[in-house]
Amino acid sequence: MSQQHDQSIVLTGISVAEARENILRYFSPLPHVEVPLGESLGLVQAEDIYADIDIPPFANSSMDGYAVRAEDTQGASDGSPVRLRVVGYMPAGAAPQPGDFVGPGAAFRIMTGAPLPPGADAVIRFEDTSEGRALDNTHLLPQDAHAPSPKTGEDVLLYRSVEPGGSIRMAGEDVRQGELVLRAGTIVRPAEVGVLASVGCMLVKVHRRPRVAVLATGDELVEPDQAPGPGKIRNSNNYAVAAQLASWGAVPHNLGIARDNLEHLTAKLQQALALEPDLIVSSAGVSVGDHDLVKEALLQMGEVGVWRVRVRPGKPLLFGRLGSRGVPFLGLPGNPVSSMVGMELFGRPAVLKMLGKQDLLRPTITARTLEPLSNGGGREHYMRGIITTEEGEYVARTTGNQGSGILTSMHLANALLIIPEDVTYIEAGQTVRAMLLD
Ligand code: AMP
Ligand code: MG
Repeated sequence: MSQQHDQSIVLTGISVAEARENILRYFSPLPHVEVPLGESLGLVQAEDIYADIDIPPFANSSMDGYAVRAEDTQGASDGSPVRLRVVGYMPAGAAPQPGDFVGPGAAFRIMTGAPLPPGADAVIRFEDTSEGRALDNTHLLPQDAHAPSPKTGEDVLLYRSVEPGGSIRMAGEDVRQGELVLRAGTIVRPAEVGVLASVGCMLVKVHRRPRVAVLATGDELVEPDQAPGPGKIRNSNNYAVAAQLASWGAVPHNLGIARDNLEHLTAKLQQALALEPDLIVSSAGVSVGDHDLVKEALLQMGEVGVWRVRVRPGKPLLFGRLGSRGVPFLGLPGNPVSSMVGMELFGRPAVLKMLGKQDLLRPTITARTLEPLSNGGGREHYMRGIITTEEGEYVARTTGNQGSGILTSMHLANALLIIPEDVTYIEAGQTVRAMLLD
């Protein structure tokens, strides 16, 4: 980057897609850190992971039953059972001892997950033996797995034949030692946590979580633990925005409320910069009111890149960079729905990109609307919607009042219904695109 101060070009009145593209240019995947496995959920792996051992590490039984030689079982049926001598007992966690061997005519009583004793090449489940037929199923598991088998030295009858390999899980049948099990770029979901644990990976190299400073602005705001006095309202934005950030994998820092004067706002923005955040998000003060000072502060302390997007709700959205390091700054509109929708459209993909994710946008579906939808035109309208299925088909309705102050509409919504900017009306029965929120 050049040393000289970038003369910023303000993009104004641009579409959602244009704004997103311009904003996302200022974000890249964050540096790698190692996190404990238990804290890796939702993060993106920054290295390839190879298996340190075979999984499973040894051939073992997939059933509670008897380890046998398959050839000994041939011809066994209800009418002519095969009789074998029980020569040992193998619970899960035990290892075959010297002398443990399943010779011709012999069987080892074996539990699920226990290693296959030498000589055996199949397992026959209890249900197909005299033990299973004699006992109620609930009595099959020994109370104490370490107790010696009461059956050793006795005979067991088999009523079925089994093939070699029957009810056996082979060593390495899931994963081979040295095999690439997870590639760099993989998102850690619960299944990946399990795979990582199975290869002994207790520290996971991932892209670190973005730190995000969250600031409210407005003289009318009180913190939610206060009862608002005359003319005051509770600051809900900081909490909703911080919760959105946390749900996407970022670490929010709530900086409280900046008042509607440049001095206090500037001090709060300095406080935000001191956190060395990857993103600063503010709400309100970006419109054209007398006290809408956020753009002015941003111009003084950095640069403005985008102002006003052709979106409903949330047109006065602001994006720029703050301070000498050029920390990305997202100035959300103040209305609670506008700020949450602004976060969905621009904050979320930025966070996901910093986390190293590839799919930055919510999935969209097509649904048949059960009610007419209208759009003032000229802006892409994101209506709070409820998607359900009717006879295997997605159907959409709105949450009701679409005012940008109706925060409960976000509570009711599971989707945003997207009305393109050149469409002013969608009749009931027609299709609408919907961005799924969860
Ligand atoms: P403004 O953009 O500053 O004109 O704010 C637009 C609307 O959003 C006003 O009705 C504000 O009272 C409201 N608002 C601003 N900040 C918050 C906040 N942190 N929590 C809830 N409502 C807010
Ligand atoms: Mg205001």
